[in-house]
Parts: sequence; C-alpha cells; structure tokens
Amino acid sequence: MTLKDELIEGLKEAVGADYIAMDKEICYTYSMDASPIPGEIPDIVVRPETTEQVSKIMKLVNKYKTPVYPRGAASSLVLMGVPLQPGGISLDLTRMNKIMEIDEDSMSVTVQTGITWGELEYELKKKGWYTGFVGPGPGLSATIGGGISVASAYYGSAKFGTACDILLGLEVVLPTGEIIRTGSAALDTAKRHTRYGIGLDSTGIFCGDQGIMGIKTEATLKLYPYPEAIGFFVYGYEDEELLLKAIHKMASLRIASDICFIDKEAGLDFGGNPERFLIHGKIEAHSENELKAQLELFDIIAKDTNGVKKPDSFSKIALHDQKYEFLELAGFMGNFFSPCHKLPIFKSKKVHDLYLDHIKAHKEKLKKYKVTTIYYPFVVHGHLVLVPEIQVPIHDPVGRDFGVKFWKDFIHNVINQGSVHYWLGKVIGDMVVEHYRPEYFDFIKRLKKTLDPNGILNPGLLKLP
Ligand SMILES: Cc1cc2nc3c(=O)[nH]c(=O)nc-3n(C[C@H](O)[C@H](O)[C@H](O)COP(=O)(O)OP(=O)(O)OC[C@H]3O[C@@H](n4cnc5c(N)ncnc54)[C@H](O)[C@@H]3O)c2cc1C
Repeated sequence: MTLKDELIEGLKEAVGADYIAMDKEICYTYSMDASPIPGEIPDIVVRPETTEQVSKIMKLVNKYKTPVYPRGAASSLVLMGVPLQPGGISLDLTRMNKIMEIDEDSMSVTVQTGITWGELEYELKKKGWYTGFVGPGPGLSATIGGGISVASAYYGSAKFGTACDILLGLEVVLPTGEIIRTGSAALDTAKRHTRYGIGLDSTGIFCGDQGIMGIKTEATLKLYPYPEAIGFFVYGYEDEELLLKAIHKMASLRIASDICFIDKEAGLDFGGNPERFLIHGKIEAHSENELKAQLELFDIIAKDTNGVKKPDSFSKIALHDQKYEFLELAGFMGNFFSPCHKLPIFKSKKVHDLYLDHIKAHKEKLKKYKVTTIYYPFVVHGHLVLVPEIQVPIHDPVGRDFGVKFWKDFIHNVINQGSVHYWLGKVIGDMVVEHYRPEYFDFIKRLKKTLDPNGILNPGLLKLP
C-alpha cells in the first residue's frame, strides 16, 4: 500500500466512502473560487459532517503532511480555499450546515459553519430573531465559516459591523487535529454566551485569518429581534464633500443598517438621475413610529447637506429585492472582480479620485474590451468599504486579462494610500504582506508555526508556507 492509499483508506474510515471523491471532473471543479484566476486541482475532495470527523482528518493528514484547503461556498473573488499548488485535499464544509442551538436566554445561536447566511436567516426569522449583519452579497450560498474567515461585510454592516462583530465564540479544529472552544465555552463550566472574560480573546485569532489558523466547525452568533418595520431612503448629491459629510453623520448615529452610495462618473447611472451621486440605505426599526422618526432624522441630515430626497425604489432594488441575488455575476466563468477596502469616510475621496483617474487612463481599452466599472462604497460601522467593481464580458480571454491587470494595478495603488483589505486570498494577500511591519510578520509566522507545525492548512496564503 502506498502512502496515498493509506491516506485514502484513513479518510474513508473517517467520513465514509460516499463522501470522498477523486474523479478528475469533481476535483477540477474544486480548483476554482469565484475569482478570475484559476487555482490548482486537488487530488481528493472530502466532505465531513461533524467536528469529530474534521479532527480525525486533520490528525491523519498531519501524518502524511498533505495540504488541506477548507472551503465553504467558494464565492471568494481573490483566490482562496483552493489549492495553490497541485494536489492535496479540498475540504468541503457545506455538509456541516446544522443549527446546533438557538439560546433565547443568552440571545445567541450556535451553528455549524457550513450553513449559509440565507438558510440561517430563514430559520431564525420563524422564531422572530436575526443576526443583524446577515451576510455578504452572495449570502444565499456563502457560508458563515467563509464569512468569519474573511470578516465579511455588507447586509446590515452600517449598524452591526462584520461577520466577526456578531461573533461570540467558535469551535475550532486546530491544524494538528485538537478541538478547542473559544469565548466563554473555553471554561468547562460555562455556556457559549459571551466572547470576553476568559483572558485572551482567542476567538480573534481565527477572525479574518483567511482560514490559515484552524478549521472553524461551529460558531456562536449574537441574536437581535427581527425588525417589525423596515424603510428605505435615497438622496441625490452633486457635491462629494457634502455627500461624505452626510454619510459621516448618518454612520455616526448607528441607526441605519445599510448606507451605500453610487457615482455616475464611475459607471453606474441609475435611471438618468440628474445628480451625480445617490446615497441609498435601509433602516430597520421595532415599530412604525420608530421607523418614521428615524427616516425623518435622515431627511433632516440630507436637507442640511443639500441632499435631494428621491423615491426609495433604487434602495429597495439594491438592498431588498436584489438581496443575495448577485452570485451569477461572478467568477472565472463569469465577469465580476473587485477589490474591497476600508478607509475613514473623509479619506475615501482620495481613493475615489484615484479610481476615476485609473478609469480615465484606460478609457480606450475599457471601451475596446467592453469592460464596465461601478463605484459602490458602503458603510461598515464608522468607516467606508470602497468597492470599485469591474465587469468583463464572458468568453473574452484577452479582455479578461486586461481586466485582471486593470484590477491588480488599482489594488497596488490603493494599498499605498492606506486602504485596508479584508478578503485577501492569494491575490490581495501577497500585496498586503509586502506592507507588514517586519516584527508583525515575524509574530504571525511564529503563531502559524506553533498552530500548524507542518504547514498543511491553506499553505501559500499570506506568503506563509
Ligand atoms: C458577486 C459577489 C459579491 C460579493 N460581495 C461580497 C460582499 O458584499 N461582502 C463580502 O464580504 N464579500 C463579498 N463577496 C466575497 C465572498 O462572497 C465572501 O467573502 C464570502 O463571505 C465567502 O464565503 P464562502 O463561504 O464562499 O467562503 P470560501 O470562499 O469558501 O472561503 C473563504 C476563505 O475562508 C476559508 N474557510 C471557509 N470556511 C472555513 C472554515 N469553516 N474554517 C476555516 N476556514 C474556512 C477558505 O479556506 C478560504 O480561505 C462577494 C463575492 C461575489 C462573487
């Protein structure tokens, strides 16, 4: 028996033969996420159902020093959760999709991390709860585990922050196979009701780690009562300084669940609106009266900053009717790429100007390859996440290569402007690591070596072995 045969036998024993695949076609489909750049093809796809099975797999692969690439929905846009070198194991976590406990007493829900944001919201709504932050753009298919691994943001982020801001604790299988619980469940006496109070915030080690420090198998998230009243707002602006002033004021109140804007000059003109910018957003309240008062407050902020009140249809389309319907835009086979970076609200103008300059400098080629652009910033707590999107027609490899270069050049520029990206993957991660202070990078390397001595979990991300 070869080492590989022994490993396969061990994996079959761990999860059952039905949940292992080595067929070329299946392995090929696991070589991609939604980014425009393909990864490498794994040797084996494994689909565990329980934490114990994940633990067995990790103990086994350490023996054979086989790389493992955990994966949720693979909806990432920056090459991650896929092999970065040929071979290894793709660990598909989507069978781990159960709700373990809804604890109304501590207002928390514990789930297996392969559940999607959409499934979770659907189930919680039946009991009158939701998680406030309810997922990234493709939340109908994206998983909680993927969201925590990249600190995802979008639906609900202006008020509730990121996937990690609603997190109370995790169950993690370490790269060497041990199972730990973070937050209050680290104590053998306590439930999973609070993140802090046990010493180090060990949950944080696994937040936004890009899946390199451990495999999250269960997550405990905060619960909020499902809103009784939901309203939308749209305001037109001509002047960017005033627009940012309004956004800053609105964001500071932490009232709206979503606050976003678009810029006609960067590509998206909604219905021939006369003003250049459209702020749009959503307010969730617990009574019609509360909603009315909050919408009125936003109208006052808009009036004070020369905003023009508009019908709320654009906001409904962007934030309600379209919820979770973006996925078909994406990917190697599709046509959508984007950086996603955070900046303080007033500092965002500089990067916005850079994006417009970048578009101007490549005007002819953008036209030639029918590449379109959109500038779509949204508020996450007190800062803006800037999303300059790039759409390339499908089935045009030359146009796609141009689009990829346009995209990567812009990312280089914005990192130099102090932007902070959160989903990093291989594409953005390699550029970000170039800017790590040496002492910090050394700290990360030592942490990774301690947790993953054989370098088998997501090797190649953040330039780590
Ligand atoms: C059209 C489109 C729009 C998007 N809009 C947004 C947006 O608004 N906001 C946003 O944040 N993102 C957005 N994204 C990116 C992506 O959808 C999110 O980042 C999403 O949270 C990724 O979840 P996933 O389940 O697909 O994770 P995957 O892509 O499968 O994995 C992401 C990373 O996490 C690791 N990982 C996954 N699960 C685990 C686990 N349980 N334990 C350890 N590591 C794990 C993987 O190895 C990988 O490195 C968008 C993508 C597309 C295609």
